[in-house]
Amino acid sequence: MKQLVTYCNNCHSKIGLKKNANDRVDLQMKVGDYVSLTCSKCRTTNEYHINKVVATHTIIPMLVLFLAIIIIPILIYYLNTNGFLNVDYILYNGGLIGMLIVIPFAFYFTISSSENKQIRLFNQYKVKE
Ligand SMILES: [Zn+2]
Repeated sequence: MKQLVTYCNNCHSKIGLKKNANDRVDLQMKVGDYVSLTCSKCRTTNEYHINKVVATHTIIPMLVLFLAIIIIPILIYYLNTNGFLNVDYILYNGGLIGMLIVIPFAFYFTISSSENKQIRLFNQYKVKE
């Protein structure tokens, strides 16, 4: 995932595009050379050239990280109470702390790095003006 945004000509606030595209050529095929956007802060509508559109991070990796931090302990507790997992054994091996910390961050880094690749791909090439 990634988010396509541009910055308002009037107040420089971030304006999000509701379209998704792999790169600017793909975006050009979907919207043309210019896209008309209204700033949510100052309500000004302007035409923006697609070279002014940039890809940025979404909050999804952070969201996944927080969800994993909340869900994994619950899951471990559930598995332990139902006898699928022996927490005492894992605790003995020091693995529980590892599971609680390593798994959420592994999720975070996996999603975040795939997002970085998509962002780089989009921002790398500009279309001819
Ligand atoms: Zn504005």
